[in-house]
Amino acid sequence: MTNNIHVLVIPYPAQGHVIPLMEVSRSFIRNGLKVTFVNTEFIHKRVTSAWSDIDVPNDLMNMVTISDGLGPCDDRDDLVLLTKAMFELMPTKLEELINDIDKNNEDNITCIVADFCMGWVGKVARKMGIRLALFTPCSAAVVAVAMSIPKLIDDEVINTRGKLLKDDMVQLSTSMPLLDPTMFVWVCMGDPIMNQVLFDYLFLEGNEATKIADRIICNSAMELEHGTFTLFPKMLPIGPLLATNNSTKQVGHFWNEDSTCLTWLDQQPINSVIYVAFGSITIFNQTQFEELAMGLLDTKRPFLWVVRHSTSGSMDYVLPDGYMDSIGTLGKIVNWAPQQEVLKHPSVACFMSHCGWNSTMEGGSNGVPFLCWPYFADQFFDKTYICDVWKTGVSLNKDDTCIVTRGEIKSKVDQLLNNYTIKQNALNLQEKVIDCLQKGNSSDKNLNNFIDWVKEGNAHA
Ligand code: UDP
Repeated sequence: MTNNIHVLVIPYPAQGHVIPLMEVSRSFIRNGLKVTFVNTEFIHKRVTSAWSDIDVPNDLMNMVTISDGLGPCDDRDDLVLLTKAMFELMPTKLEELINDIDKNNEDNITCIVADFCMGWVGKVARKMGIRLALFTPCSAAVVAVAMSIPKLIDDEVINTRGKLLKDDMVQLSTSMPLLDPTMFVWVCMGDPIMNQVLFDYLFLEGNEATKIADRIICNSAMELEHGTFTLFPKMLPIGPLLATNNSTKQVGHFWNEDSTCLTWLDQQPINSVIYVAFGSITIFNQTQFEELAMGLLDTKRPFLWVVRHSTSGSMDYVLPDGYMDSIGTLGKIVNWAPQQEVLKHPSVACFMSHCGWNSTMEGGSNGVPFLCWPYFADQFFDKTYICDVWKTGVSLNKDDTCIVTRGEIKSKVDQLLNNYTIKQNALNLQEKVIDCLQKGNSSDKNLNNFIDWVKEGNAHA
């Protein structure tokens, strides 16, 4: 009989959720916990087909799968379809999985760490009498908004269905930044059906789960969101996650990383390269794609650009005629970069980003200033943090035809790279967040206390 403390970790099935929860799991394992990591079958295939040697799980990390409720041919990029199917089928499947693990395993599951976006797990945990913690892959501010839904309804900012009743700026506390309610995730998606599904399934269910959970751990730092953590003390920053790991290698990628860009970066002057990457979901129309291509060329600066291929392996966009010849060695285009290593590289001068929260944390903890180009969901909030609160970046703005023009790109790149204050702010922010991770400081203490709390748990009946 072994006496491993066994934690079940379950992410939302998307890249920006799997990577940070894999990182959380690795820190659990480093602290002697055993982890069962639950991916949907579809995501498991993607992750394991992009495994590199160091990713392969060890004895303490068990990778298992459950169905997401969709058939093999269903469109998993359809968030409405996927979310509804998951919330319907996965609770039963998770319960069966836990019962199977407990029957066949020496170490019962004593704690579940669930993604905030998988709020349905709360009910499973309560029914099975297992302790629950939530993990937030987004900013604590986004979860604070979810936890404030009853107050927003009372204040008549939204109605009970989440519809916006007024669009004045909202402040949850005087120590938190003003929030633009038109940027609430369930308001800003453009499609009313999608907005409703996000409100009902992710935010209302997520809020319910925050009540069931004993702890909420966040990929953030006290220095980054002090006001939010003060107002919502149940939320505990343990990040920025990847900076806690001495090895900079992330795991859980859906695409194979192209490491040739690191060799290319080695050949570029220090502090010269524009790193251009928009995460795993952002899409552009062809006109915008070409404008971006030309804008990068017009900067006359070296750039490393991630242009994701579709899952079938082809590039969905067409580069302007003769583009590769025009850029010569000035630009490097890859399908998927080892982003954390890229951002650490001394040749990188700035990060043109969609402001996904992971990218925001990764750029922030490496002292890299941002060119912000948010695409959807919480990315508009994150842009506000970067440009208005931390002042570590500038925003790329669209023209009347909804295009970020090549002129805007060149002018903002020049503006950013000639701005000593923004670079200095980015370096100061880096110093502060890294300090949170030092032994005995906020993020380190929160993680250790969290692990102690997990270790206290007894096996459920
Ligand atoms: N990422 C990467 N290589 C790339 C682009 C992105 O490794 O070429 C990683 C990035 O480091 C981050 C994650 O993918 O950890 C994307 O998460 P984020 O929250 O930034 O954006 P999302 O994909 O969720 O929109």
